[in-house]
Amino acid sequence: MQLRSTVKEKKEMTKERVSWETYFMNIAKEVSTRSTCDRKHVGAVIVRDKTLLSTGYNGSIKGLPHCNEAGCEMVDGHCIRTSHAEANAIVQAAKNGVKIDGSEIYVTASPCYNCFKLIANSGIKIIFYKEFYRDQRIKERAKEVGIKLVSLEG
Ligand SMILES: [Zn+2]
Ligand SMILES: [Zn+2]
Repeated sequence: MQLRSTVKEKKEMTKERVSWETYFMNIAKEVSTRSTCDRKHVGAVIVRDKTLLSTGYNGSIKGLPHCNEAGCEMVDGHCIRTSHAEANAIVQAAKNGVKIDGSEIYVTASPCYNCFKLIANSGIKIIFYKEFYRDQRIKERAKEVGIKLVSLEG
């Protein structure tokens, strides 16, 4: 009886251990809770060799009012007040002198075209995303430049 319950406990513990992909996407989700634009909360983390290198969420210029204080800055149906999570994660790495060449990025929503370009030029090789967000062009470009686009949807 006792032995059986020990085995069962062990099984449940094993079940709780998440994959690396889930682990880093969970962190990206947590990072997104710092976002200051209520139109969309996005989080990004940059990873190499299972090590977290940098984080970013969408927010306005450092020191200036955020969307949730000053309202969104709308142009053509988009809020342009913020720089995006992926861009901010790349900037955080640059600011701290962290090499991200050959790394992977986890984003809660797939990159916009501009962020995709930054990701490609910074040497990031794999993009994991939770939700596909609008821009189909990135699929074609990713193929062309050899970046892996991996959906972790669902
Ligand atoms: Zn906004
Ligand atoms: Zn973007």
